[in-house]
Amino acid sequence: MQLQPTASHFVDGVYVEDTAGDVIDVIYPATGEVIAKVHAATPAIVEQAISSAKRAQKEWAKMTGTERGRILRRAADMIRARNHELSMLETFDTGKPLQETLVADATSGADALEYFGGLAATLTGEHIPMGEDWVYTVREPLGVCVGIGAWNYPTQIACWKGAPALACGNAMIFKPSETTPLCALKVAEILVEAGLPAGLYNVVQGMGEVGGALVNDPRVDKVSLTGSVPTGKKVYAAAASQMKHVTMELGGKSPLIVFEDADIENAVGGAINGNFYSSGQVCSNGTRVFVHKDIKEKFLARLAERVQGAVLGDPQDEATNFGPMVSERQMNIVLGYIEQGKKEGARLICGGERVDMQGYFLAPTVFADVTDDMVIAQEEIFGPVMAVLDFEDEAEVIARANATEFGLSAGVFTRDLSRGHRVIGQLEAGSCFINSYNDAPVEAPFGGVKASGVGRENSKEAIQHYSQVKSVYVRMGDVEAAF
Ligand code: NAD
Repeated sequence: MQLQPTASHFVDGVYVEDTAGDVIDVIYPATGEVIAKVHAATPAIVEQAISSAKRAQKEWAKMTGTERGRILRRAADMIRARNHELSMLETFDTGKPLQETLVADATSGADALEYFGGLAATLTGEHIPMGEDWVYTVREPLGVCVGIGAWNYPTQIACWKGAPALACGNAMIFKPSETTPLCALKVAEILVEAGLPAGLYNVVQGMGEVGGALVNDPRVDKVSLTGSVPTGKKVYAAAASQMKHVTMELGGKSPLIVFEDADIENAVGGAINGNFYSSGQVCSNGTRVFVHKDIKEKFLARLAERVQGAVLGDPQDEATNFGPMVSERQMNIVLGYIEQGKKEGARLICGGERVDMQGYFLAPTVFADVTDDMVIAQEEIFGPVMAVLDFEDEAEVIARANATEFGLSAGVFTRDLSRGHRVIGQLEAGSCFINSYNDAPVEAPFGGVKASGVGRENSKEAIQHYSQVKSVYVRMGDVEAAF
């Protein structure tokens, strides 16, 4: 498979290169090998990306929603047709097992293009009667939008930001994470093949500096970041200084509460999905698993048994269901947290170490008897480390679940549906689950509260964040004035 892209960037409808930019090695996390090299964008590339987006957006906004939507839906079909190739690329970029990437990455990107492609023609305003007069509203695009991605879902993030932006009549300039620069280039290539006019979806590579240059350019109207809370604070502040629109999809330390009446098998399944999918590198993970003390040992015993089902190995082998950390750096960060958990006296149920094989593999790790004051219960680890905490009382667990700066997700397992709704209603989180965990269909709004973010991706909600409303008061009679 050809992993070295034609060039580092995709701007104004074509691949472009500028070798003056710093070299970024693309490393396959399952082996540590350099599989491709790209160059960070120079100021000249950033300029081309912004000026072509600015030019192209004006014409794009004049097209009908039906015409725009048709292109997005065609791109969705093309992505589905090429799912295997795109999933392989995502596996090389991130190290995630093909078993996952085949169903969760390009396909999720295609869903977003199809969904927003379908919505594009429905983005209309309102007619508001005012007696003889009336007001009408027009939903307008924002202009040039910048998307900045994290490394865990490079294809999905490129589409989740691009699809609603384009549907609303904006241009998108996407900067992938420097750790996973390959997939977004393919999204750009496919969009153009599907008929997207040049300049409307540009991809530029680089580190935070390139992201900063895009965010600070006065021609950029909106920034959507997927990343950590510290980066979010910087990007939000920079955008605020020019009063730009923002969407912030940031980190979390989400609670998953398992009541004593829960179906244990399902709760264990939810905890596995919410901690070990993508080797734990998922922002919405339910990494604080509060288990009622009456069922705690039963829950832990079944969890320890089921974790034995993790198959670590070559991510390209479809039997592998647990891949490496995305990078050596991330592996070392997570190992630091594991050591911290041991030092703080949490009970190690399984895992707790690097696996003795090539690549950045960590064993799926479960700590029990975790208390709220431990660092592993407070900070986002972004790796396969589950913290199991005990609780006895509903009000107590709600208060403890909310005692965090984060607010991305929350889950409840119980057979008592009124309790499920009552508890979820009191949890401070944006994306919640009852008797499930981590489902993220395009139809459902996705995003956090508190430090976990601002705005929502997916669903009709995303439209609010990629468009603005103009209101027009129309007077039928004479104008009355004081003088
Ligand atoms: P990160 O914050 O280090 O980087 C995110 C992106 O921001 C990268 O592309 C990076 O180059 C860019 N960046 C860094 N500094 C910048 C600056 N000053 N200006 C502009 N851009 C800048 O995050 P990461 O390590 O790539 O990803 C992991 C984090 O992302 C975790 O905290 C995770 O929870 C979060 N995340 C959130 C979601 C969500 O939807 N809520 C999804 C995935 C990941």
